[in-house]
Amino acid sequence: MAKKQFKAESKRLLDLMVNSIYTHKEIFLRELISNASDAEDKLAYKALTDDQVPVDRSELKITIVPDKEMRTLTVSDNGVGMSKEDLESNLGTIAKSGSFQFKQDLAKEDKPEDIDVIGQFGVGFYSAFMVADHVTVISKAYGSDQAYMWQSDGADGYTVTECEKDTVGTDVIMHIKANVEDENYDQYLETYKLQELIKKYSDYIRYPIVMEVEDY
Ligand code: ADP
Ligand code: MG
Repeated sequence: MAKKQFKAESKRLLDLMVNSIYTHKEIFLRELISNASDAEDKLAYKALTDDQVPVDRSELKITIVPDKEMRTLTVSDNGVGMSKEDLESNLGTIAKSGSFQFKQDLAKEDKPEDIDVIGQFGVGFYSAFMVADHVTVISKAYGSDQAYMWQSDGADGYTVTECEKDTVGTDVIMHIKANVEDENYDQYLETYKLQELIKKYSDYIRYPIVMEVEDY
């Protein structure tokens, strides 16, 4: 299956985040949890405005699953999900984001203290590539019978294929990078570290964030 290329702007931002001096890699989790929360909101809103939508608001939740053996960290939601077209247009481009111009201006200035400001801003889905060398997104849109899988190793494009998924919502599966000399990626598979990051950045999220811990 042919790989599709990211839009030029997305590629630049991706390069900036993955290869730059940007140090606050840990904010990727905040970004993915915030996307999961937005997706829950969208489904909750549908249910509120359309009584044909059988959604129990109390069941909306975000699930975090670290798997040391597979070296994956998965952030799942049972929100509105994405269609094939959504995966293509929402994860294939970042230029839509209102903050993009701002990020681009910062990138030109190239000053570490300015780049840190990105951390205060929403850097979005692509921040997953700061800690992952491969990202798989499995999603089933509300009202659809078919699920789709988006996969990418980063800058060289992405694929979208049909796949199986029972429930509506989205799983973002990050294959965590190997440790390098001055960068500890292993910590993003540690329960205590993930708990710390959730407390630090995602305390305000109004859906339960549940961590599934493996038995050893
Ligand atoms: P932003 O959240 O600022 O729009 P992101 O890069 O974080 O930008 O996400 C891009 C888009 O991808 C979102 O606007 C949304 O449409 C879609 N998206 C990302 N994650 C999810 C998810 N878990 N469920 C549904 N849609 C998602
Ligand atoms: Mg976002």
